[in-house]
Amino acid sequence: RAKNPNEPEFLQTATEVLNSLRPIVERHPEYQKAKLLERLTEPERIITFRVPWIDDKGEYQINRGFRVQFNSAIGPYKGGLRFHPTVNQSVMKFLGFEQIFKNSLTGLPIGGGKGGSDFDPKGKSDDEVMRFCQSFMTELYRHIGPDCDVPAGDIGVGGREIGYLYGQYKRITGQYCGVLTGKGLSYGGSLARTQATGYGVVYLANEVLSHKGKSFQGQKVIVSGSGNVAIYAAEKATELGAVVIAMCDSNGYIVDNNGVDVATIKEIKEVRRGRIREYVETHPQAEYHEGWQGIWTIPCDIALPCATQNEIDLDAAKSLLKNGCWMVTEGSNMPSTLEAMDAFAEAGILFVPSKAANAGGVAVSALEMSQNSLRLSWTFEEVDSRLKDIMSNIYKNMSAAAQEYGKTPEDYVLGANVAAFIKVADAMMAQGWV
Ligand code: NDP
Repeated sequence: RAKNPNEPEFLQTATEVLNSLRPIVERHPEYQKAKLLERLTEPERIITFRVPWIDDKGEYQINRGFRVQFNSAIGPYKGGLRFHPTVNQSVMKFLGFEQIFKNSLTGLPIGGGKGGSDFDPKGKSDDEVMRFCQSFMTELYRHIGPDCDVPAGDIGVGGREIGYLYGQYKRITGQYCGVLTGKGLSYGGSLARTQATGYGVVYLANEVLSHKGKSFQGQKVIVSGSGNVAIYAAEKATELGAVVIAMCDSNGYIVDNNGVDVATIKEIKEVRRGRIREYVETHPQAEYHEGWQGIWTIPCDIALPCATQNEIDLDAAKSLLKNGCWMVTEGSNMPSTLEAMDAFAEAGILFVPSKAANAGGVAVSALEMSQNSLRLSWTFEEVDSRLKDIMSNIYKNMSAAAQEYGKTPEDYVLGANVAAFIKVADAMMAQGWV
């Protein structure tokens, strides 16, 4: 804590992970001797840089850029770029730290990293976003590469931004290579990458449900957010028979007891870049409420938080539990505060942590890297079927570790942390003092 002042998000994730790794480190004195946990919590490198750009009025703007290259023990750094006004070093380090474990769980050879900027793409013209992305990449390009660090999208960074970033990388380096993932299909992107995180969340939740003799059929589901992860989690849950009754953006939430029409949400958010309140214009039976936190007061069976960190605090958790929610599967990174996680654990509901549940996105990003290296494109069905297998393996590894080390076989938080840690720890031990 003394070493990382003013970094509450990073301390939150480090506390959660280190608490659950205690039993395994106690069984392995060699890890203690090698100061593995101290090394693991210190990023290999943090790059911070100035991003100057000119807005449409001809005025100069300055933002701050980041890339945290956290751990490369099992592969090149891999993790998204976030463009949002709340981005700072603490948020970057929390996301980079989580990424080490998430990437390890995929079973693919990718290390952990994260980056971004406090730039807000909302309300900016396409030209402004392009000029910002070009300036951002003009510094970032020297720190990344297809065998060293491969960024992707995250909040505020979708297909448009990745396109501008890729164009600038290519222009500076003259290299046409898999240096970014989430690319458009016409220039090296992978089918099913757009869907991967949201679908993966539901595939993993479905594995857990089926091992309990349950399914999504007929369950009332809340999906928070209405961005990339939320849209495809809602789409897949609906396909599996769930009724998605509510979604939100950072202004407010909609409730549609007939089941949210995901095609309309896609049209509003992906095509028009509009606000979720516009949903009720074409669906008058639905309600819109200002203030997104109210979404957690709606009774549901399953909650899929897919917006941002700490969106479920203790009050939200209590409200969910009081209203009968019996499963939470996390789509966004660290959506539940430590107090909310304790409340869920105490109530004994099914709780699947984000490190495992949202690993499908980065897994398909790694499959995009493989396709780029092979100079091949796989079909949607092929990528989707690999994604299903990866999520199923994550379930097996997470629940095996929970059974071996956890207090209960459903202690998926501990299971995910331990299963991910062992692979990274072994690689770090083998590579010596690096
Ligand atoms: P998007 O930018 O596509 O969507 C984010 C959604 O969350 C939007 O609806 C946004 O509302 C809402 N939101 C963002 N910040 C806040 C906030 N502070 N308060 C309330 N609502 C907010 O991002 P993604 O869907 O890509 O990412 C969502 C989460 O999933 C993040 O935690 C991300 O790290 C995680 N994730 C994403 C992956 C991916 O492949 N995209 C992979 C793994 C994890 P509004 O439109 O009003 O801003």
